[in-house]
Amino acid sequence: MRVRVINKNVHDHVEKFKGEIITIPSMGSIEMGRDDAVLFLGQYFAMKKGSNGLQTSESKKILSLEPILDVKAMKKEAVKTEEHVCNACGFVAKSSSGLKAHVKANHAHQMIDDEARENL
Ligand SMILES: [Zn+2]
Repeated sequence: MRVRVINKNVHDHVEKFKGEIITIPSMGSIEMGRDDAVLFLGQYFAMKKGSNGLQTSESKKILSLEPILDVKAMKKEAVKTEEHVCNACGFVAKSSSGLKAHVKANHAHQMIDDEARENL
């Protein structure tokens, strides 16, 4: 699973992680594997102090994680749960009762088993 790592600092975030330099632009984001992203966010990032003795904003790690939603897959899933497809002819009903009514009206005669017919 991949996630988005968002840099909410006004400065670009540059940090070495697993031997690689990771750069996330200010208010921008990069994609990472979830496990790596969690490690990356938890990794110690050296604090730097400015001449005023306060931590410089460049050295602040202001990152957050956001799951990447697979809209296509979600839509597919939604369609799957809404559609009731007739196994006999491929007719698509909008509800299970609609499918039952369809089967009863169109395919009841095809059923040899009387019990199955009565269960409709
Ligand atoms: Zn049918």
